[in-house]
Amino acid sequence: MTTPAEILSLPKPRWAEDDVAMLYDMAVRFLEAEIAPRYDEFEKAEIFDRESWRKAGEAGLLCASMPEEYGGSGGTYAHESAIIEAIGHVGVDGFGIALHNSIVAPYILHYGSEEQKRRWLPRMATGELIGAIAMTEPGAGSDLQGIRTRAVRDGNHYAINGSKTFITNGQLANLIVVVTKTDPDKGAKGTSLIVVETDDAAGFERGRNLDKIGMKSNDTSELFFNDVRVPTANLLGHDEGEGFVQLMQQLPQERLQIGGSAIAMIERALALTIAYVKERRAFGKAVIDFQNTQFKLAELKTEATVGRVFYNDCVARHVAGGLDPVTASMAKYWLSDLQGKIVDECLQLHGGYGYMNEYPIARMFRDARVQRIYGGTNEIMKLLIARSL
Ligand SMILES: Cc1cc2nc3c(=O)[nH]c(=O)nc-3n(C[C@H](O)[C@H](O)[C@H](O)COP(=O)(O)OP(=O)(O)OC[C@H]3O[C@@H](n4cnc5c(N)ncnc54)[C@H](O)[C@@H]3O)c2cc1C
Repeated sequence: MTTPAEILSLPKPRWAEDDVAMLYDMAVRFLEAEIAPRYDEFEKAEIFDRESWRKAGEAGLLCASMPEEYGGSGGTYAHESAIIEAIGHVGVDGFGIALHNSIVAPYILHYGSEEQKRRWLPRMATGELIGAIAMTEPGAGSDLQGIRTRAVRDGNHYAINGSKTFITNGQLANLIVVVTKTDPDKGAKGTSLIVVETDDAAGFERGRNLDKIGMKSNDTSELFFNDVRVPTANLLGHDEGEGFVQLMQQLPQERLQIGGSAIAMIERALALTIAYVKERRAFGKAVIDFQNTQFKLAELKTEATVGRVFYNDCVARHVAGGLDPVTASMAKYWLSDLQGKIVDECLQLHGGYGYMNEYPIARMFRDARVQRIYGGTNEIMKLLIARSL
């Protein structure tokens, strides 16, 4: 693990205003002090503990962009990005607070009633409630219109039946936004988002904590809904059938978030690798003295800089309300592809040590792979981009 001083010398979010830069510094210090020392333990257990979530809440790292009246810090996506980047720079990528903060909470803020916002957001800000979003099913991932989880209205309740898979925070979450079909005959227009509070929800079961190749400490689960009864007041939006539009409106921020963690992990990989090749010696000189190493690192640094400029522009546009879904798809696809490439090259420059789990670059290599898959695969991103041409 790098020291705080080394991490703080990594690029800060350059679009940042002072309060965002302060939040970034504070997040780095919190993650270094509270999370990094226990990270190996969480990686082995393949799950975080609730205590870490509560501490993150106390430190102001949960719901930073939610309004203060709902327990948040009243920031913007820039503040969320500062936290996402701090996580990537410190190298505790399995801490699932970014999904909670900048994916789950916004659904409640944007589509929740006043009563829903007051009920859920303050407890999400303290870490009492841990959020998840359950879209994917065993038979439907990329093709979200194919989901089969059914919500049938019965008086003032819905009865939810179905199963979900690959759900991030699935073991810990106790507030889950579930993508359901309220009217299967209406296709996309029959899709609704319903919030399930899982504590005491009869018929709700968690399946296995899935055994993944990377992002070990970030629990990922199957979820089962067997006649789970939820008040109709837990529907997000005014009417049934708004779910697909809500998803399409919020997915760009999820995609930008993946781009943000990609660029932060790229920057950490480069920082670690430059330090390593300066130390490591072969044929009587430091590995950085080989021209191949210099050229390779010059290329990677250039690409990382291009990626950073692109990401910063996306954040600035998003904060101003003008990031279009196509550009968000470009950020997700291109930055996660770049991450895969750069982390692989950085591992190569570590030689055999890069393949050893005690070196952070090994874990970064494993963690990088999923970034091209979740949040919509990079192939789906290309489809979305191509459709706009
Ligand atoms: C670690 C992890 C965490 C996740 N977290 C969550 C979560 O919190 N919530 C959630 O709902 N989901 C989550 N997912 C699910 C993730 O979003 C899906 O895995 C992803 O969208 C792909 O769906 P799929 O796995 O069903 O693949 P498929 O849709 O079966 O795709 C298989 C292959 O076919 C390609 N393909 C599919 N359709 C097309 C097309 N039209 N054109 C070209 N190629 C195509 C895909 O790109 C892919 O290469 C997570 C997944 C992982 C691995």
